[in-house]
Amino acid sequence: MRSVVVLGGGIVGLTMARELRGRGVEVELLESRRIGTGATAASTGILTPPQHTRTPFYQLRTLAWHSWPQFADDLAIETGIDVGYRRCGGIDIRERTMRNPQREVRKLRNSGGRVEVLTGAEIRQLLPQMVRTPEAGLRVEMEARIDPLATIEALRQSCLASGVRIREDLGPIRIEPQGAAGIHLAGRQDLQLEQPSEHRKVVLAAGWESATAALAVPPSPLPLEPVPGEAIALDIEAPPHLVHFNVDLSGFRDASGNRSIYSWIPAPDGSSWLGNSVASGHRNGVDPRNAVEPTREGHQELVEVALSMFGPGVENRITDHRAGIRPKATRHGGPLLGMWPGRPQLWVATGHYRAGLLVGPATATMVVDSMLDGTEIPEEFCVPV
Ligand SMILES: Cc1cc2nc3c(=O)[nH]c(=O)nc-3n(C[C@H](O)[C@H](O)[C@H](O)COP(=O)(O)OP(=O)(O)OC[C@H]3O[C@@H](n4cnc5c(N)ncnc54)[C@H](O)[C@@H]3O)c2cc1C
Repeated sequence: MRSVVVLGGGIVGLTMARELRGRGVEVELLESRRIGTGATAASTGILTPPQHTRTPFYQLRTLAWHSWPQFADDLAIETGIDVGYRRCGGIDIRERTMRNPQREVRKLRNSGGRVEVLTGAEIRQLLPQMVRTPEAGLRVEMEARIDPLATIEALRQSCLASGVRIREDLGPIRIEPQGAAGIHLAGRQDLQLEQPSEHRKVVLAAGWESATAALAVPPSPLPLEPVPGEAIALDIEAPPHLVHFNVDLSGFRDASGNRSIYSWIPAPDGSSWLGNSVASGHRNGVDPRNAVEPTREGHQELVEVALSMFGPGVENRITDHRAGIRPKATRHGGPLLGMWPGRPQLWVATGHYRAGLLVGPATATMVVDSMLDGTEIPEEFCVPV
């Protein structure tokens, strides 16, 4: 294969482009807005290790978890940018953990690191900024975080340095069928897109908008749902570990199954992030296509979450508010990866939902292995016919 076009400049598209270029393929990355304006830039960079390897998705998550330190080191060597990978560990003070810490310890026995029960007093000593008084909790060694913005910048620089051609601000690009098994690209008239051919394949990595981009290509639509999410930044000193907790928010529907679980996250600059809301695509009638900007409702929800953690006055300590739309694959099994059924020129890498930062780089390797060497992708990830 001589050349590949990648659509989308989030973590998935950028890691695809870098991986392909690293294997000697000419790559052009087309971005309808600017690199890093999608879900990746809104995310809070939590890398959660899987607790088992019983399904292909959890096997992929395990591979991804173990690959991240090397991936971060490689990017630092290539670009001089520290992408903020820190194995900071986590503290779990969710209600069910407090009710039965030993059961949660058993669940994490294969996590590969230490898991210890902490008393309420020990937790309060570790987290003096918190007004809660948990009775007990767990400290879990195997949790990590990265800096999403630094990661995007490092990937962009790595791609450019290796010769990936990046074109931004192109407006939406559509994929249309051509004949029984071909495709072509369509967009604004002035784009002058070089068309796919037997030697020039296309990878669709446009996040939640991938379904729209390929709406005309059968079998359509791609089973993908937009799930808006928001997070805030606070000028509160970073906790030493990620902190996971419950909040019972009576005024907010939990339509997408966040199970009232939120996280307090050490931000790369030493302050804190708090997230992540998981709105239903149609929460209160909000069209998800308009929800890329932070919403008033998202703000209210996260202020209530912050009040439950830090007490009155916390509203005045919010320094940033970000929003993004996660691409959720609606068929069971994990992200949508591999060749589009019956269209060998078109490949897909999307549907990473809440784990794109964790598994994005590993999925890029999996898809590129399949494109270049014919390695089989587990059926669970394939686009259903
Ligand atoms: C608030 C929030 C917190 C999160 N926290 C975490 C976390 O802690 N850990 C984790 O692992 N994941 C997290 N996620 C999920 C993660 O952000 C996503 O899974 C991941 O970013 C998806 O990456 P992507 O490259 O597929 O999509 P995106 O980052 O959305 O990138 C897609 C890109 O494609 C472009 N595009 C769209 N249409 C076209 C087109 N037709 N042609 C060309 N380009 C196009 C867009 O402009 C965009 O730049 C979070 C998400 C949110 C919203």
